[in-house]
Amino acid sequence: MDASRTHNPDRPAAMVIVGAGHVGGRAAQHLREQGWAGEIVLIGAEPVLPYERPPLSKAVLKGEMTPGQCALRAAADYDRDRITHIVATVQAVDTAARSVTLADGRVIAYAALLLATGGVARKLDIPGATLPGVCELRTQADAIALAPSLQAGAHLLLIGGGFIGLEVAASARSRGCEVTVIEGAPRLLGRAVPASIGAQVLALHRSQGVDVRLGSGPSAFVQRADGRLDVSLQDGSTRVADTVVVGIGITPATELARAAGLAVERGIVVNAQLATSAAGVYAAGDVAEFPSAFSGQLIRQETWHNAETQARTAAVNMLGGHEAYTVTPWFWSDQYDWQLQVSGEPALAASSVVRTLGEGSEAGELHFYLDADGRLVGASGCGPTRVVAKELKLARTLVERGARPTAAQLADPGVKLKALLSTAA
Ligand code: NAP
Repeated sequence: MDASRTHNPDRPAAMVIVGAGHVGGRAAQHLREQGWAGEIVLIGAEPVLPYERPPLSKAVLKGEMTPGQCALRAAADYDRDRITHIVATVQAVDTAARSVTLADGRVIAYAALLLATGGVARKLDIPGATLPGVCELRTQADAIALAPSLQAGAHLLLIGGGFIGLEVAASARSRGCEVTVIEGAPRLLGRAVPASIGAQVLALHRSQGVDVRLGSGPSAFVQRADGRLDVSLQDGSTRVADTVVVGIGITPATELARAAGLAVERGIVVNAQLATSAAGVYAAGDVAEFPSAFSGQLIRQETWHNAETQARTAAVNMLGGHEAYTVTPWFWSDQYDWQLQVSGEPALAASSVVRTLGEGSEAGELHFYLDADGRLVGASGCGPTRVVAKELKLARTLVERGARPTAAQLADPGVKLKALLSTAA
């Protein structure tokens, strides 16, 4: 596909998507599949077609996949679907004129607009934060730049014990690197999983030889004469690292929406149909703050599954549909031979129940979350993939169906989860 193809302003208004990531690429595909015959314009700043992020911190860093293999779809698919991919920055959205203006001055009229602008990696504001060797991992270009640093014997220091930090730690250990993880909170994955799962993940990484420091953060990086980095920590200690990867979360890219006068809180605010406060403008993916199907409260999801499923709903509604987004949240993380998953909204729980699976090195744990009415609103778990994968899938199905098992049934590994599907309304 010719990414430099220019838009013809005399044509009828197009379906325009700002942000050529997972959401943008998938929404463009759905627009065509749902029957839009006119032009589809997909605009993104990165000079590559949309790609999926999950392999970047795992298979790409381990050398098992090339960055090109992360592409969401082949270039030929965009050609066949007549999707115009423009590599450019969008400078403004005019919701009255229903147009977007690119940095080079081009103006593109939209019939409907999707903002799928995602987010950018949060930066550290400390001395040395922009030195060479201090990296982040958000984009395909970041992964390409980082991969050569994962050399056996090199010391990789990760700031942030979240998903990026821990997945990169596992990949780096598999390549023979020395690995240190520095996490500001007193536990790992504090925002994502219950304390006992965080503790299991901590034990897993330590058993794999990762030096995990909790309750600390970096205060400065200094380039040494030998090219390595001196890392000063807030607890007064220092480390020497070959490479530092900063994974301290993302900031949703809301500037364009805010400047256009759209409602923005912790993300671009949308209703159940993923429509923003401006007519004909939708938002989806990491950047969208949408009403939870469980609680009605506004939530934001930074996950592959959210990108994949919201893209479809947004496309249907851009074409005049009135579909509500009611998909149950879900994400997974693979680290070493372990898998971790969370489905639903554990934060809504009035009570929780633990089910232990297997024993010793084959042990895994599932946590179930029930609301005050006894409905399952979430599940999480981790352990060796071969032990937990099937059970995690069933747990997710129970949450999706709004099952109402008893706490005793959930806690007893002798009760098959499949049998509890009958407790769904
Ligand atoms: P994240 O999962 O939000 O984790 C960031 C971690 O860094 C948090 O534990 C945070 O602690 C900690 N932190 C913040 N400031 C710090 C500091 N100055 N020093 C030390 N630690 C600090 O974000 P991420 O790992 O950067 O990942 C970025 C995004 O990609 C997230 O949305 C993540 O969910 C997504 N992602 C998902 C997957 C997956 O689903 N498998 C894999 C990779 C990435 P506090 O919470 O206390 O601030």
